[in-house]
Amino acid sequence: MGLFSKKEPCPICGGKIDIFFPRKIEGQLVCDNCYDKLDVQEEILNSFTMADFREYLSYYEQNQQLREGFNTSYALDFSVIGNDMVFDFDNKLFCVDDKLNKLIFAGKDVVSIVIKEDSTPLFECNHREIKSYQSSVKERALQMAPQLAQMVSNQRLMRNMERITREEDKAPRYIPIVDLPEPFKAFHIHIKFEHPYWNNMDFRVSGPTFSNEYPDVNEYIKEYTEQITNLEAFINAFRRITFSDVKAQPADNNPASQSSHSGSSSDSDPVAEIKKYKELMEGGIITEEEFSEKKRQLLRI
Ligand SMILES: [Zn+2]
Repeated sequence: MGLFSKKEPCPICGGKIDIFFPRKIEGQLVCDNCYDKLDVQEEILNSFTMADFREYLSYYEQNQQLREGFNTSYALDFSVIGNDMVFDFDNKLFCVDDKLNKLIFAGKDVVSIVIKEDSTPLFECNHREIKSYQSSVKERALQMAPQLAQMVSNQRLMRNMERITREEDKAPRYIPIVDLPEPFKAFHIHIKFEHPYWNNMDFRVSGPTFSNEYPDVNEYIKEYTEQITNLEAFINAFRRITFSDVKAQPADNNPASQSSHSGSSSDSDPVAEIKKYKELMEGGIITEEEFSEKKRQLLRI
């Protein structure tokens, strides 16, 4: 009588249960094939009954149809959060996996998106408004430049001293690494859903870090700017599929303007605005017609 002979088949599909890593729903064993279809928020999954699971699986089968019709118009490289996000602008869909192995969401499943730098808001989007806030990260990084330069030069001096004065059989002296806290630690992305299996998704994206040996503020700012560009593209992609009726207020990172979360875009430099929209068009976020329309509005022609 072997260990293997008495295993009941999967109650859902009758398939074989994995002997070594059995999966359970409501205390009952289910097969990997069925279990792997789950893409459900942990809190919801924790209280899943077998009936919930069956209901989910029929939801999943319907969702598969969206997957078949999914036409990727834009892929956002968010490898830092472990996923690439893909968007289908025509059908207003998105998926948090570029292979579409997770649930396909409709843009309308999203209620709001908030992005923060540590605890400071950077973007707030909902069906009424899209706000972008001024960030002080670049200024704060620039303010650190003299201090960083001083630390690097002290370190270099100590290294040279060490080389000259070190005695043969003695251990090298401790040379401190340059270690200043960065202006912020991480971006926090919070997506709120109205969806049977997801209430919210949270992603943490680490901000840039100074290199310990050769900290360079310009390098830091370059990296930070790339991240911001990525986040703007992320927000703009959701503008296409979720917040398309909301009046656009493109992210304003011009330090000259104090507050960017109110007022209309026509107050600011129209040429700069047009450039911004041109980039969006080139990135596939807006269409050529939308760009031309915006250009006409901004130039009042
Ligand atoms: Zn099964």
